[in-house]
Amino acid sequence: MQKSDPTEIPIRNDGKEKQLVKITNHLARQNVSLCWQCLTCSGGCPFADHMDLLPNQVIRLVQLGQVKEAIKCKTIWICVGCHTCSTNCPNSIDIGAIMDALRQLAIRYGVAIPEKDIFRFHKYIFGSIQRSGRLNKLEAMIQFKLGTGRVFSDIKSGIKMLNRGKLELIPQKIKDTGELDRILTHYDKRRRSFKAHE
Ligand code: SF4
Ligand code: SF4
Repeated sequence: MQKSDPTEIPIRNDGKEKQLVKITNHLARQNVSLCWQCLTCSGGCPFADHMDLLPNQVIRLVQLGQVKEAIKCKTIWICVGCHTCSTNCPNSIDIGAIMDALRQLAIRYGVAIPEKDIFRFHKYIFGSIQRSGRLNKLEAMIQFKLGTGRVFSDIKSGIKMLNRGKLELIPQKIKDTGELDRILTHYDKRRRSFKAHE
């Protein structure tokens, strides 16, 4: 997908666009209609050079009801949720939260994910937290390396991190895993309730 002027994004209607905009707003707890396309978010995004659509263009697609287009782009996976954009947004729109909502929708609708390694990264990090309530970096790194087949790349950095005590050899676990289960169950219920509205 090429970067383009937001005004060039075509408007297409298939009858479901308003519903998808509502779902995106609801998942992100934002209101994309507040965006007036000032481009401040895109101007300050440290990862804009790696994106196929600029952050404001993604918001514009959602505004226009083109959520199905927005969930196909690389940008939603490149965004790291650093909040540089939302800090500067004149309308206090949490753009990272919208990117997150779009990632959820991309997975739900089974679209081809253009950044497979980033998706894997999310999966292993979440899996680690789901198991113990803590991120076990060593476990996530090993899974990522095995998942991508690039077992020996970054090995020097890995050794440095181990030497500096940045990677725990013994996984830590939170005391109250019951609370974690309750949060995850709540999340699953919320996800199901959205599915019922689709
Ligand atoms: S900074 Fe806020 S208002 Fe401006 S384009 Fe980005 S999201 Fe829209
Ligand atoms: S939260 Fe995402 S879109 Fe916003 S500045 Fe950071 S990387 Fe860019």
